[in-house]
Amino acid sequence: MSAILKRAPAIEGWFTIDDEPALLGNRCTTCGTVWFPKSSFFCGNPACDGSEFEEARLSRRGKVWSFTDAQYQPPPPYIPRSETYEPFALAAVELADEQMVVLGQVAEGVTVNDLEVGQPVELIVEPLYTTDDTEYLVYKWKPIDGAPA
Ligand SMILES: [Zn+2]
Repeated sequence: MSAILKRAPAIEGWFTIDDEPALLGNRCTTCGTVWFPKSSFFCGNPACDGSEFEEARLSRRGKVWSFTDAQYQPPPPYIPRSETYEPFALAAVELADEQMVVLGQVAEGVTVNDLEVGQPVELIVEPLYTTDDTEYLVYKWKPIDGAPA
């Protein structure tokens, strides 16, 4: 059981899993509006009828806009990490450049007690679950050490 696991995003096409992971959005080639997650059919700008979009790597950093504690295990398709449910924190983060708010879990070991509104965070990926040959990763927000809140 020592096979090397492939790494793959748990949600295909939402984010990269390289050394500097980033969320993947769409940018409209007509008006320049960027949105996340990607949609291939409509521009994120309701006043624009553009239909050509290109993939955009979103800001890897942002500031905590709001956060909450998920005290109860979410219903399927949520996949528990362990037998006993461990509460985890969710953060809504305003991206540095796009100024859009993206919800995500926070990094393993970080609780709501470690978070405050306005705190700088960056995007990381952590394992969500593992199959026989693949480790599936999910994006999370991690407080930037030493950065002033
Ligand atoms: Zn547009």
